[in-house]
Amino acid sequence: MMCDSVPLVLFGGTFDPVHRAHISAARAVSKVLGDAPVHLLPNAVPPHKAQPMADGEERLAMLRLACRDYPELVVDDWELRQDGPSYSLHTLRHFRQQNPERPLVFMIGADSFATLHRWHHWQDYARLCHLAVVPRPDCELATVEVQSAFPESDAGQLRQQSCGLRLMLKRPFLDVSATAIREALQQKGDCPALDPAVSAHIRRHHLYNVANKTTSTKHEAP
Ligand code: ATP
Repeated sequence: MMCDSVPLVLFGGTFDPVHRAHISAARAVSKVLGDAPVHLLPNAVPPHKAQPMADGEERLAMLRLACRDYPELVVDDWELRQDGPSYSLHTLRHFRQQNPERPLVFMIGADSFATLHRWHHWQDYARLCHLAVVPRPDCELATVEVQSAFPESDAGQLRQQSCGLRLMLKRPFLDVSATAIREALQQKGDCPALDPAVSAHIRRHHLYNVANKTTSTKHEAP
């Protein structure tokens, strides 16, 4: 289907917690697609990995803090409100129904792209959305089958049709992961890859078994 409109971008993840690479990636995809809105959708029950440490409300709260200065980033609790495993296919079908002709872009990191052939009904994705793949250090390539299901294209082409193409971003290329951040929080009490407001929220709510940093000297009366 031919069209020319600003795409709607969907960015699913555990966001446990949201970090600098998520935000930089979402902003980069938005920008290259003409300031497209990006919906960040924390999942309820991730089907492909360990369950989150922080509950849905906490992950939403951290996302809202991290996105507060970026109007193009929309924190969306749709997956959290659904029952059962958060299959992206289910989410994509929902947003496609709401937007029958608009270009719909599903953005993922290169690590997720490399495992797409194991995702629930991945073959149906190309009829529902485009892909935007963000590079990530030390990732395998996707299978040839997956690559050819989504022919590589550019941002202009993605705006011209509603689904079926793939945009490969060159940047950002950040060696950041939520797993490493959770470890740093336990050991050191903080991590530079977090937005300072998210860091403060984590400490205030004692999330991720955060280590108690004694940064200030106590001036207590004897
Ligand atoms: P974990 O370390 O717990 O696996 P994560 O940092 O990979 O977490 P997720 O919330 O699982 O974060 O990721 C959501 C999406 O963001 C996925 O598509 C993932 O590939 C992508 N992503 C996460 N970190 C990066 C990164 N540094 N560069 C590019 N994409 C990333």
